[in-house]
Amino acid sequence: MNDSRRRILLATGAGIALGTLGACAMPGGRAGAPARAQVVVVGGGYGGATAAKYIRMWSDNTIDVVLVEPDAAFVSCPFSNLVIGGTRRMADITVPYDGLERAHGVRRVRDTDTRIDTAARKVSLAGGATIGYDKLVVSPGIDFMYDDLPGLRPAAAREQVPHAWKAGPQTVALRRQLEAMPDGGVFAMAIPRAPYRCPPGPYERACMVAAYFKREKPRSKVLVLDGNDDVTSKGKLFKAAWAEHYKGLIEYRPSHTLMDVDVPGRELRFEFDDPVRAAVLNVIPPQRAGSIAVEAGLVTANDRWCEVNFIDFESIVASDVHVLGDSIQPAAEMPKSGHMANQHAKVAAAAILNLLDGIAPNPAPVVMNTCYSFVDDRNVIHVASVHQYDAEKKQPMPVQGAGGVSAAANEIEGKAALAWARNIWADMLA
Ligand SMILES: Cc1cc2nc3c(=O)[nH]c(=O)nc-3n(C[C@H](O)[C@H](O)[C@H](O)COP(=O)(O)OP(=O)(O)OC[C@H]3O[C@@H](n4cnc5c(N)ncnc54)[C@H](O)[C@@H]3O)c2cc1C
Repeated sequence: MNDSRRRILLATGAGIALGTLGACAMPGGRAGAPARAQVVVVGGGYGGATAAKYIRMWSDNTIDVVLVEPDAAFVSCPFSNLVIGGTRRMADITVPYDGLERAHGVRRVRDTDTRIDTAARKVSLAGGATIGYDKLVVSPGIDFMYDDLPGLRPAAAREQVPHAWKAGPQTVALRRQLEAMPDGGVFAMAIPRAPYRCPPGPYERACMVAAYFKREKPRSKVLVLDGNDDVTSKGKLFKAAWAEHYKGLIEYRPSHTLMDVDVPGRELRFEFDDPVRAAVLNVIPPQRAGSIAVEAGLVTANDRWCEVNFIDFESIVASDVHVLGDSIQPAAEMPKSGHMANQHAKVAAAAILNLLDGIAPNPAPVVMNTCYSFVDDRNVIHVASVHQYDAEKKQPMPVQGAGGVSAAANEIEGKAALAWARNIWADMLA
């Protein structure tokens, strides 16, 4: 550790050695903490896991990193639509957290962060412990806004009408409902108005369910009820795939604002359009930043998202708190994607190391994104973009001429999509 970092750490005094988390984690137990910086990361998804690994790696393991994550293993939303369509299993999208601990010395605490005290710079966990931090990384993903959908407020109703928009038990639940549905049934999916997690995700899901019906339940139908006025991502490509592969199987209805769900009657109710009854309902509710970010007062945009300084991803309302991934109010044309969360994490990790050393972060970070979508078992389309920080606009702006979309769905991109998943999971977790 260089001298300037040591000085800053002694001044902050909030570090907790990895092996002494329990002893130091008592409320008020930060006195006498060793002079090593400690970064606490809340959430081990695309943003948080990447940040945890890169802070360890780029600091030559001189910074202690504690990752708070309730789940036993990482389960990927990308490729979860293939599990719903029946061509992949949950095991194919599940990656253990061991690599972060074994190869990088990240201390993983399997718990939920229930409180962030930005004044005292500590987090409280459901299990009762508190952990102090020099820098906090918050990457809790999204949570759902059920206030406007009264029928889905009871937890039991949400089990019956799964969103499957967080990969895990709901992915399995939706797959089981499709398996149990008799041939000739209707699968109806409601899409919220943008912004929501993964713009192309719902349309990929329509393809994967239709591909399953084509193989095994050919008299069935996919009904896409979109709260947006048109397909929000890769529209021409998805519509071409629907016409080519799923004529009569997928019906797309735009501008359908969902008002409520009659769960026992299996009916979706819209603002202006006729209600729709279906054998399997999949409602993707409107979304906001993960609840812990809301409760910590980090949400500053439309009561939904956390605004950050895009140089270092520090919250605009809490110093030393860096928010990543789907929880943030995105810059212009910046999608809520796993790839983008991974990029946020690297910019934030580099900035945190600089800040701990008393050095200004890179003033012109560049981030990029590629989202692949399967239109059938093998053929894939992509959208890619590059975003360069613009000092005048104080946010990354899309670089004209960089990125773009596929000319047409093709099998080569199917292979690229598989490689993307393997690479990004290794980049985060190995
Ligand atoms: C069907 C579908 C398909 C998708 N396909 C793609 C794709 O092809 N490419 C792509 O780039 N993106 C894709 N995405 C989007 C991608 O999954 C998200 O953008 C990404 O997961 C965001 O990363 P994150 O770190 O913000 O949140 P997440 O990855 O969701 O991670 C959040 C983590 O925080 C944890 N957490 C939450 N609250 C707390 C708390 N209080 N304490 C501790 N831990 C907490 C959660 O358990 C979770 O592990 C897809 C999404 C869906 C739903």
